Amino acid sequence: MSFKSLGLSEPILKAIQEKGYETPSPIQAKAIPPVLEGKDVLASAQTGTGKTAGFTLPMLHNLSSSRTEQRHRPIRALVLTPTRELAAQVHANVKEYSTHLNIRSTVIFGGVNQKPQVNKLSQGVDVLIATPGRLLDLESQGLLSLKRVEIFVLDEADRMLDMGFVRDIERVMKLIPAKRQNLMFSATFSKDIKKLAYTILNKPVQVEA
Ligand code: AMP
Repeated sequence: MSFKSLGLSEPILKAIQEKGYETPSPIQAKAIPPVLEGKDVLASAQTGTGKTAGFTLPMLHNLSSSRTEQRHRPIRALVLTPTRELAAQVHANVKEYSTHLNIRSTVIFGGVNQKPQVNKLSQGVDVLIATPGRLLDLESQGLLSLKRVEIFVLDEADRMLDMGFVRDIERVMKLIPAKRQNLMFSATFSKDIKKLAYTILNKPVQVEA
């Protein structure tokens, strides 16, 4: 099994090679093909399994293969994470994997001045990684729009629920288009997670590491 055989494009394979990854991890081997096919995916994966690349690599592939030249880039992919640390980590990964792509990304989270984040957003980004509170805050101020989101990712969904973000997630869902690709990652699968998955995902492929 190789990254190339999964169907990822050359610029992404180059970035993977530069990172030093040789073979896909089990969750990557299972999650990448259905994401590339445009399907919704519900993945059960712990931190440390390579789950971040499992959704960011095919997400970047899908975005870059359908990129239209526009002067102002709308946010086309939204990744929600429960904590600022995780948001920053996902963003660092996205930046590395998109080195050879014409894709811009940024990260927003609470607890810090919004101004630098707003400046970055105003330049136009394709991929936004965010924690729910700051995302809703900036959206309600009219500082970002989620109307053009094509790919929605919920990372560490179980932690999101534990931290009481269910209402915020529901609010975010109302701001993004109904027609979109959804990816949801969770380490555990409680009744509440299944309920959330049911409301967010459309005929998901289920994968496990
Ligand atoms: P994650 O589970 O996404 O937090 O990733 C855990 C660590 O594994 C990170 O440091 C990644 O850079 C690394 N990693 C992800 N995929 C691979 C791979 N296919 N081969 C080697 N390392 C990887």
